[in-house]
Amino acid sequence: MSLPDPNLATERLPLWWDQVEWGEPGPRLETSLETDVAVIGGGYTGLSAAYHLAREGVKVVVLESERIGFGASGRNGGIIGALHPGRFKREMRRFGVEGFRRACEIGRESVQIVEDLVRENRIECDYERSGEMCLAHSRRHLPTLKESARVLSDLGYPCEYFDQAALREQMNAPSYFGGFLDPQSAHVHPGKYVHGLGSVVRSLGVPIYERSSVSSIAAARSRGGGRNARGIVIRTEGGEIRAHEAIVATNGYTGNLHRFFEGRYYPLRSYVVATEPLSDADWESIGWKSRCSCYDTKIMLYYFRPTHDRRIVFGGRADYGEWENRGMYDQLEEAIGWVFPSLRGRLRISHRWYGLLGYTFDRSPRIDRLKDLPQVWYSMGYSGHGVGVATLCGKILAGNLLGRHDYDDVPFNRSPLRRFPLYSLRKLTAPAYLAYCRLQDAL
Ligand SMILES: Cc1cc2nc3c(=O)[nH]c(=O)nc-3n(C[C@H](O)[C@H](O)[C@H](O)COP(=O)(O)OP(=O)(O)OC[C@H]3O[C@@H](n4cnc5c(N)ncnc54)[C@H](O)[C@@H]3O)c2cc1C
Repeated sequence: MSLPDPNLATERLPLWWDQVEWGEPGPRLETSLETDVAVIGGGYTGLSAAYHLAREGVKVVVLESERIGFGASGRNGGIIGALHPGRFKREMRRFGVEGFRRACEIGRESVQIVEDLVRENRIECDYERSGEMCLAHSRRHLPTLKESARVLSDLGYPCEYFDQAALREQMNAPSYFGGFLDPQSAHVHPGKYVHGLGSVVRSLGVPIYERSSVSSIAAARSRGGGRNARGIVIRTEGGEIRAHEAIVATNGYTGNLHRFFEGRYYPLRSYVVATEPLSDADWESIGWKSRCSCYDTKIMLYYFRPTHDRRIVFGGRADYGEWENRGMYDQLEEAIGWVFPSLRGRLRISHRWYGLLGYTFDRSPRIDRLKDLPQVWYSMGYSGHGVGVATLCGKILAGNLLGRHDYDDVPFNRSPLRRFPLYSLRKLTAPAYLAYCRLQDAL
């Protein structure tokens, strides 16, 4: 088996990588090519953009520095959430009622697009629309969950508020004080989904070059040596692509691809563990019959979901450090026991891994083009909610390149992608912010 990252120690392999037959890697780019659109990044954003462009007859090439699914798209929790009750006041304030309603529609569309892609292309990826529960880790969050259930129901979105007694009927998780259920949400096997999407894109005739890291993006020069407003040149170590337009779809893995992105996203590390499959008795003891995905109201939140093969995948958002913090895995294992006390002392962890989220200052993604290179589009900054949204943003990008404007009213896209204040001092500011979050979460 050839994994997206062959150098990764096996004890820190994402469960999802272990359960997919990845096959041999695609070719490296070792030549000069011309195409209509070059897509940089082989995750959900890039593959969805390539899929939607190729279906319209556009000539596309995908470049991925490792293997497709190497980034967050092969490492995430697989939760596709439609509604976000914790955010509703902030979004109402920011977007107004109509903008908020549109944001909710986008959330629903982001679930639907995955469902449609999976169904139409017969991608086998354990897709399951079993809902998502937001759980209150302290009593002070109950009024917000209750109010958002009322507001969202009034706007026509089915959802439900549970107090602690009612929650007990849903799952035996006594540390939580109540919850908000969005029955429209779903979950998926992220590895099977990204691998399946890659196969569909290839079947449309799109070449996917793997182990082909883009080192520069520049405007093409015209014959006289001046800047050619229509073209773009993308270089890798082994070759180059001349394209009319390019898409940057590298999110939390963007690195120093282009100076514009520096300080405009934060590569936040999120850690995940997976248990061995649980016994029938253990499933019975936690009473989690609905198989909904869950996350909680902490800023440094926990998220967890059941898998098809009866495991729990449990993640935490976590760390602003520059290196892997292995202590996080023990903390997550302990946290499973905090959520489900009946499993304490009985858990066996089979997989531990982390990945990079692309965080923006206002926690909203952006789809735009570079000012100094308008032939280059980007979509990034899903801030931990990208399984469905990145897939949808890939479609939006494709529409933009085709001159369609179906999504010009996307509320999160109304302001430009701004820099984090004091980004250059992040080694000092990030730990202080983390300490503040932990303090808030303890209240
Ligand atoms: C641990 C974890 C848990 C998560 N859980 C959830 C969840 O449950 N639900 C949810 O909605 N979201 C979740 N997310 C977020 C979600 O996974 C991401 O938002 C989404 O996968 C982003 O997709 P993407 O295609 O934009 O980027 P990615 O999947 O990160 O892909 C970017 C790709 O670009 C490639 N690349 C980078 N630089 C270059 C270059 N120079 N040249 C060529 N290629 C390059 C990388 O190798 C990478 O494969 C989670 C993320 C993580 C890390």
